[in-house]
Amino acid sequence: MAGWFASAGEKPYRLKQLKDWYFKRPEVKSFQELANFPKALREKLERDFAFLSLSLEEAKLAPDGSKKQTLLLRDSLVTETVTMPMDGYHTVCLSTQVGCPVGCRFCFSGRHGLKRNLTAGEMADSLRCSLPPSGAESLNLVIMGMGEPFYNYEALKTFLNICKDGFGVGSRRVTVSTVGVLAGIERFAADFPQMNLAVSLHAPREELRRTLIPRAPSEIRELLPALKKYFAATKRLVTFEYAMIGDVNDSLREAKELCELLKGFDCKINLIPLNEVPEGDFSPSEKENSERFVDYLKGRGMNVTVRHSLGGKVGGACGQLADRRNGDVPKKS
Ligand code: SAH
Ligand code: SF4
Repeated sequence: MAGWFASAGEKPYRLKQLKDWYFKRPEVKSFQELANFPKALREKLERDFAFLSLSLEEAKLAPDGSKKQTLLLRDSLVTETVTMPMDGYHTVCLSTQVGCPVGCRFCFSGRHGLKRNLTAGEMADSLRCSLPPSGAESLNLVIMGMGEPFYNYEALKTFLNICKDGFGVGSRRVTVSTVGVLAGIERFAADFPQMNLAVSLHAPREELRRTLIPRAPSEIRELLPALKKYFAATKRLVTFEYAMIGDVNDSLREAKELCELLKGFDCKINLIPLNEVPEGDFSPSEKENSERFVDYLKGRGMNVTVRHSLGGKVGGACGQLADRRNGDVPKKS
């Protein structure tokens, strides 16, 4: 943009003004609304650029206060974001891809494979559409929507830098969740040592994990050392995500194996009650099984929390985000 302003014969302060409009005035949606720009400049900008790369197609408000937004991209695909009010903070959950190539068996987001990566601009625009009224200061950003963030690392990196330097999001308030892309974990430690990392584990042994995540990018025996290295480099506790799936990974056997696996590693475990997805093969854990699981882990001194899932009523909970419009639910083959 700096180059464009210079070649259009405009003063450098126009760039600063444009940034202020973009980052500080999320209600502004077009060049026409830039009140301190002359009409001719607004028109020139409009001719050469799109102010936003997406538009709001639908917003659904759930009774729990969370909001799912479906955003229409220029090629008619959609991305979804979820905003959740939590403890005085607004948590915004963003996607990094349209679809997902990993195809975890309990997740709707990966049901149709990968359509394409989101660009950094599309991610920034989807954050901009989801900012709380109070602005970025009260924001928690979780990159836990559709897609595997570390399979789109370059765009993710650009976007996270825009979050810090443009929107003013505090690094410690950002969490990226990965299914275990080792190269991404290493780069993330070097590029964003103050941000948080969550890793989808879901099973304490390889063969069970493979049945749930058939295209897992790494094996547990490689993942653990990589995460220990991450912790040594950043001193930030890794959070292991573990979806509680009825009679699949929620028995005492898995609880014991999980303790054994993570023994001596300073980390957090976040148990996620399984959210129902269309045509899903799995059901959530029975209450007594998940309680027994939690009690066992707590009894062994593990740092364990249970995720309070929001957005389920509007298809906005973990694993429910889709790459298709509502109503276009895939038919059973
Ligand atoms: N692709 C990344 C980030 C997005 S998914 C990853 O897998 O980590 C965010 C979290 O939601 C992951 O831990 C994922 O395993 C979990 N999840 C997916 N489907 C779910 C479902 N149906 N119920 C509960 N959690 C689910
Ligand atoms: Fe992809 Fe994550 Fe869903 Fe697995 S859980 S299919 S990695 S989005």
